Amino acid sequence: VRFEDFGLAPEILRALSDQGYVHPTPIQAEAIPVVLQGIDVMGAAQTGTGKTAGFSLPIIQLLMAHANSSASPARHPVRALILTPTRELADQVADNVKAYSRHTPLRSVVVFGGVDMAPQTAALRSGVEIVIATPGRLLDHIQQKTLNLSQTQILVMDEADRMLDMGFLPDLQRIINLLPKQRQNLMFSATFSPEIKKLAATFLKDPVTIEV
Ligand code: AMP
Repeated sequence: VRFEDFGLAPEILRALSDQGYVHPTPIQAEAIPVVLQGIDVMGAAQTGTGKTAGFSLPIIQLLMAHANSSASPARHPVRALILTPTRELADQVADNVKAYSRHTPLRSVVVFGGVDMAPQTAALRSGVEIVIATPGRLLDHIQQKTLNLSQTQILVMDEADRMLDMGFLPDLQRIINLLPKQRQNLMFSATFSPEIKKLAATFLKDPVTIEV
């Protein structure tokens, strides 16, 4: 399998070539076509498998279909939300998303706690299609009305098991309730405890399970 086989936009293929990626990893080969079809995914994958590109690349492709090069922030609603348990992971995912979308008009921002809100607020106000966030700080921005999820069509929960371990379940439920009912959901977890299965059952719709 080659990245060209997925029908990804030339802008994305160029970014992959910049990164020096030649072949998709097994999880990428499985996840990319499924996500591109708009199907919900329950992914069993550890860090190091290439799962970040496995969800980021098809999301970028899906969002590019309606990408807007206008400078007006109103033309850049948040259309994909990627939730992670820690700021380190959020940063890492955001670096990947930025690298893969660098030749597209899509904008992204990373939002996590423990740092000043002002620069995040400024970035959000300028308009971004993709937000990568830890749950608590995301809710702070929503409360301050610097972030609105009414047009968010894609939700990713990365390392969902760690989010539950860290006590984020109430925050996750609050966030899910703010999203449009009609949306695509992707959930990744290294383990599948009864709690994870319960969470998956509450927000995934007819998911395809991907294990590598
Ligand atoms: P992840 O599991 O998403 O944290 O990715 C692990 C590492 O593999 C990251 O440093 C990625 O940049 C790298 N990577 C992801 N996909 C590929 C690929 N198809 N070819 C080579 N390296 C990759």
